[in-house]
Amino acid sequence: MGKGYLLMQLVTYQGSQGPRVGRLLGSGIVDLGFADMTQFLAQPDWHEQARAAERLAPQLDGARLLAPVTRPGKFIGIGLNYSDHAAESGMPVPKQPILFAKFSNAIAGPYDPILHPGETVTAKLDWEVELGVVIGRKCRRVSVENALQYVAGYTVINDVSARDLQMFDGQWLKGKTCDGFAPMGPVLVTADEVPDPQNLPLSLTVNGETMQQGSTAKMVFGVAELVSFLSGLMTLEPGDVIATGTPPGVGMGRKPQVFLRVGDVVRCEIPGIGFIENRVELDA
Ligand code: ZN
Repeated sequence: MGKGYLLMQLVTYQGSQGPRVGRLLGSGIVDLGFADMTQFLAQPDWHEQARAAERLAPQLDGARLLAPVTRPGKFIGIGLNYSDHAAESGMPVPKQPILFAKFSNAIAGPYDPILHPGETVTAKLDWEVELGVVIGRKCRRVSVENALQYVAGYTVINDVSARDLQMFDGQWLKGKTCDGFAPMGPVLVTADEVPDPQNLPLSLTVNGETMQQGSTAKMVFGVAELVSFLSGLMTLEPGDVIATGTPPGVGMGRKPQVFLRVGDVVRCEIPGIGFIENRVELDA
């Protein structure tokens, strides 16, 4: 590791009685005593508890990882937040963050299938690699300068999008929140491990071919600006998730356009956080 301590990676995994929150240590996991990440992060001393877990022996090897936050109170997506992606979408760079939502039915684990709703529902299933931000402390009307203090950590999200449904009538929701349209993980890396969230490379491949390559340095509104802006509109709570937008290279923006088909394998990666890999399967 070279840092003199163990990287802080929080997970939600499938226990024998249901989901459990844990700390990943090597190939094993220490159970942190909670079934739900939002409840774990609601404790004021969650960070100390997670740090102390490294004195314990990891119990589980090979447990199935679920999304780090399986049922966030809010899942907020940010649209057109990379200037080069706005250009490929034929849209102006936004003057204020564009918001949309996904519900928790959309959340899927890091290696779960992407569920294709069928060609009669959408013929334009697309991908979007994104940096996911998880809120770690309740906040309202925080300044840009203080905003990062309220971030628990970071994860990888594929903001799966059905473009025909998304663009049908100006309301993006129906193209964004079908079942399984938000695979995320594999871990939540705590914010203290990520000194600069605006200097992270992100990439996405489909069947091994690179489709997206970008850097969070190209965000129109950075993480601190997003948390400050959102907290000016609504109270943010522990476990709330923000999908911060995608770099260029989505299927809709390619010439010719490319969309996902059953059997395709999509891999999203942010070095230092990890990768998620999801196979497209028909939601029969
Ligand atoms: Zn997106």
